Amino acid sequence: MLYIEKDYPLKSLNTFGVVAKAKHYVSFDAMEDVEKVSDLLETTFAAEKRFVLGGGSNVLFTDDFDGVVIQSRIDNIISETQTDSDVLVEVGSGMEWDAFVAYCVSKNWGGVENLSHIPGVVGASPVQNIGAYGVEAKDIIQEVCLWDFEQGEVVVLKNEDCRFGYRDSIFKHEYKGKVLVLSVSYRLTRKDHTMNIGYGALKDLEQHGDALTLQHVRDHVVAIRESKLPDPEVIGNGGSFFKNPVLEKSFVDVLLVDYPDMVVYPLPDGKVKVAAGWLIDQAGWKGYKEGLVGVHDKQALVLVNYGGAKGEEVVSLSQKIIRDIQQKFGIVLEPEVIFL
Ligand SMILES: Cc1cc2nc3c(=O)[nH]c(=O)nc-3n(C[C@H](O)[C@H](O)[C@H](O)COP(=O)(O)OP(=O)(O)OC[C@H]3O[C@@H](n4cnc5c(N)ncnc54)[C@H](O)[C@@H]3O)c2cc1C
Repeated sequence: MLYIEKDYPLKSLNTFGVVAKAKHYVSFDAMEDVEKVSDLLETTFAAEKRFVLGGGSNVLFTDDFDGVVIQSRIDNIISETQTDSDVLVEVGSGMEWDAFVAYCVSKNWGGVENLSHIPGVVGASPVQNIGAYGVEAKDIIQEVCLWDFEQGEVVVLKNEDCRFGYRDSIFKHEYKGKVLVLSVSYRLTRKDHTMNIGYGALKDLEQHGDALTLQHVRDHVVAIRESKLPDPEVIGNGGSFFKNPVLEKSFVDVLLVDYPDMVVYPLPDGKVKVAAGWLIDQAGWKGYKEGLVGVHDKQALVLVNYGGAKGEEVVSLSQKIIRDIQQKFGIVLEPEVIFL
């Protein structure tokens, strides 16, 4: 079924909780409805800009959206195909990501448990190549079924066609603004699971030995995340606000002389990733408040809306942080969150 609205409020559709509205809003809940959505975009709304919104956990509305916001509400498991060792599960793009993870863990399907508790919906998982605790969506995605607005047809992309990178994919480049993810198929294990518990605080799980279950991993991940990250239901935020900058090793080596405890991750290509949260913390921003916005007091990478802030107030704070980090370290931070 199609749902079409004018002047649609977006406050509950973005985890920053900023007040904004969309000139038009279109949602649909069945695969076959996408053709009708596409027709509407080519006719009634042809002159308007468009944005495909998921759960709104990585976007910041800086103003009212003067165009059409489109949302998939296909929120069911579409198919499950089992072999002796694996299951291929196709999921509607509007299903809440963590509901999908919980479902898999309850079925004892392995591969997705480290990605527990990430906000958002299934449709965004290939776009963002979401990742946590040593696992990325690309590790389990088999294929992505999408609607191509330019071709006016359904296209199925195999994993290798999605050009996955660190929080990156073809959907942020060639396909940006041109497609809508309808469903995603993930390949998960039914037995002999490979548990990824080598990452940081997950090492505590080694104590379970052979009795370790997917549910143990999920519970542990949820507990860690709840203790470290602000709950968007309580304090508006969009998770990590800035990307971790990737820099030349020679540049980072010079900085390390003055800041030997700077958090850095050497990359296979010889470059070095620097923890943006460390830079912001070191520059004294952690816990900073300015009107209705601020920097979270436990995680400097997270900018927060204490309630009632406008998107532009968050942008203004982010610009001050960018300028300060550039002055102090000569590094230009880039937002991870998408400004609309
Ligand atoms: C508290 C918190 C913690 C977080 N932790 C993590 C983390 O650990 N790891 C991580 O990777 N991310 C994390 N994030 C970021 C965010 O949850 C992910 O980027 C998530 O995938 C965004 O999903 P969404 O459905 O909210 O997408 P949105 O924010 O609505 O959109 C994100 C992008 O995906 C596109 N998109 C969404 N749905 C579709 C679709 N059906 N078709 C085409 N394009 C689509 C949008 O156009 C946009 O470009 C966190 C965010 C918060 C608020």
